[in-house]
Amino acid sequence: MADNSITPEKILKETARLGLDDRFTFACNPQLSCFGHCCHDVTIVLTPYDVLRMKRSRGIDSSEFLEQYTLRLQNAEQKFPIVILRMEEQTKRCQFLSEQGCGIYRDRPWACRMYPLGLAEPKSPTPNDMPFHFVIQEDICKGHSEGVSLSVREWLECQGIKEFEMMAGAFKQLTLHDFWNSGKALTPQQSDMFYMACYDLDRFRRFVFETRFLTLFEVDEARVEALRADDQELLDFGMQWLRFSIFGEKSMRLRPGAAPQESRP
Ligand code: SF4
Ligand code: SF4
Repeated sequence: MADNSITPEKILKETARLGLDDRFTFACNPQLSCFGHCCHDVTIVLTPYDVLRMKRSRGIDSSEFLEQYTLRLQNAEQKFPIVILRMEEQTKRCQFLSEQGCGIYRDRPWACRMYPLGLAEPKSPTPNDMPFHFVIQEDICKGHSEGVSLSVREWLECQGIKEFEMMAGAFKQLTLHDFWNSGKALTPQQSDMFYMACYDLDRFRRFVFETRFLTLFEVDEARVEALRADDQELLDFGMQWLRFSIFGEKSMRLRPGAAPQESRP
């Protein structure tokens, strides 16, 4: 049987590197025998913006969303917590899959939008080592033989990727930070701070407004008001706070007399 597993080594060696104007063929529709098969037993890593969109789409609190629809993973290799979609226990289907397809189509995660395209991004791009897209070929997916020709740029546009990429910038900076190569590890408390500020936004909002947080940090009034209601603003703010609290950067200003250790949950 052919080895269909996708590994970073395989991508670098064997897949064609696509630029934005390169073309590939693909089409997905409910008439295909594979419809929905790609939403079974699959590991979908969620970005903070994915979680924000999905919990908003369900109209529930982030803690409830995370509990019901996701799994939190962290082992020795993953230096910070990551969040993946939780499949149904018995059937291994994604919990959002319906007869008609994705039940949260407008708010589906980045990885689901991108499929069948993948993105390889070096940590420090150089002229000889730039990010590139590639086509994920899996036997289960019949969309490649059915397809129409379209460029990578057209695919990204029709899948609404731009907004997700704009929101991913600050998170990438966080996860690619030199701190992770310094041999230091997060304490359990820091790991929980990371999880809360990136994924559990409603809990982070309660932390900001229902503890002494705002008496410790200087945050201007307009921003405080935005943080009350705007999840995207809160997510940006959370990452700014993590850079201060975990990396020790001067991304936040303490009020005179406040000690840094008081600024943690
Ligand atoms: S064509 Fe591919 S992406 Fe579409 S439903 Fe089938 S397996 Fe999934
Ligand atoms: S979120 Fe939607 S597209 Fe993604 S795996 Fe679940 S059902 Fe499929």
